[in-house]
Amino acid sequence: MDHTFDLSRDYAQSLDQQDQLKEFREEFFMARETIYMDGNSLGLLSKRAEKSLLDLLDSWKRYGIDGWTKGDHPWFYFSEKLASMSALLVGAQKEEVIITGSTTSNLHQLVATFYKPEGKRTKIVADELNFPTDIYALKSQLELHGLSPDEHLLQVKSRDGNTLLEADIVETMTDEVALIVLPSVLYRSGQILDMKYLTKEAHNRGIKIAFDLCHSIGSIPHKLSDWDVDYAFWCTYKHLNGGPGSVAGLFVNNKHFGVAPGLAGWFGSQKEKQFDMEHTMTPSSDAGAYQMGTPHILSAAPLLGSLTMFKEAGIENIREKSLRMTDYMMKLIDSELSDYHFVIANPREAAKRGGHIYLEHEEAARICKALKENQVIPDFRTPKGIRLAPIALYNTFEEAWKTVQMLKTIMKEEQYKKFSNKRDVVA
Ligand SMILES: *Cc1c(COP(=O)(O)O)cnc(C)c1O
Repeated sequence: MDHTFDLSRDYAQSLDQQDQLKEFREEFFMARETIYMDGNSLGLLSKRAEKSLLDLLDSWKRYGIDGWTKGDHPWFYFSEKLASMSALLVGAQKEEVIITGSTTSNLHQLVATFYKPEGKRTKIVADELNFPTDIYALKSQLELHGLSPDEHLLQVKSRDGNTLLEADIVETMTDEVALIVLPSVLYRSGQILDMKYLTKEAHNRGIKIAFDLCHSIGSIPHKLSDWDVDYAFWCTYKHLNGGPGSVAGLFVNNKHFGVAPGLAGWFGSQKEKQFDMEHTMTPSSDAGAYQMGTPHILSAAPLLGSLTMFKEAGIENIREKSLRMTDYMMKLIDSELSDYHFVIANPREAAKRGGHIYLEHEEAARICKALKENQVIPDFRTPKGIRLAPIALYNTFEEAWKTVQMLKTIMKEEQYKKFSNKRDVVA
């Protein structure tokens, strides 16, 4: 096969023909006339996820209360079951993972449990580009300790407004820092932070480190155990296709097992003890201890089907295709959109680039509206960002090609001018 890049649609089609993962596309629901480039915000529904949700409903129908212990997937062990399937994606032992809560509530749990300001080691390091909920959670946790966020939350600055320098992060790692919380992949620019390196540098200075994997889980491989990361948390509705509000994930390195949960609840109990109904909790000996109340079984159910696809496809293969797709898309953008003032603001280097392209343009909000009108679904991020995520499991190279062609048409015909350059309520 000829691998030389060219701008033709034929070339895109030839890439699709060679694609080893192409059969997975057939498993997803989406109107074929729509090009969905937003799987990094909300992944699409798959047939398998639909089936696992319907199966779960069926177990409720058939067993009532006994569904907790009967059926193919007894609900009492469901969070642990999903955790063992997720462990592969984060590079951890199954006991180190639990599927529970939301990204935000898991961050709260981790900080409430493991952040112990002592002496002059009282500060938390985050960054100024992180997703707002992480920052809100950290500030409120500091306030619960009676500490002022202005003084105790250090937000590493970005030099270019889109990316962070690992050296700048390391610089903030002083002996006043107790905990670091950073994204694995930045939600706007898609930059991957070097988790292995940052963990090593943090540990050299006696600091614990946590990563928010929302934009990397299901998109890039992780080796949390090998890297010796202390804690991690993630959502499952982006690249993992768990559905709106699907139950999130949490990782605690086994060296931290045994620390009593900061936010305790009865589902954090040892399974055999939970129904003794004692008022003194006996926490689970692993990451399960950091669950709180009754698991949101119906919101976790789609993950069961979805995770089987990740296992079959292999996260290394997913990453490999994802990199080829984003590389292809950047080449098209460079060639086809050079007259229209787009800036590719994600890192170009493969090792630093996550699963999406980040374009900046002064007219971004209304260019996104014009894309949607033309049935291409992008993702706008204020003030001037367009995220385009070609997803390895369900997008095609031809769709990437069509998306860039559509952008070119919208710019050439100035179609975006019909819309106001403001974001919608959910953008
Ligand atoms: C999507 C996302 C979240 C979302 O948090 P929820 O609790 O699921 O609403 C948090 N942090 C980052 C970095 C995200 O990308």
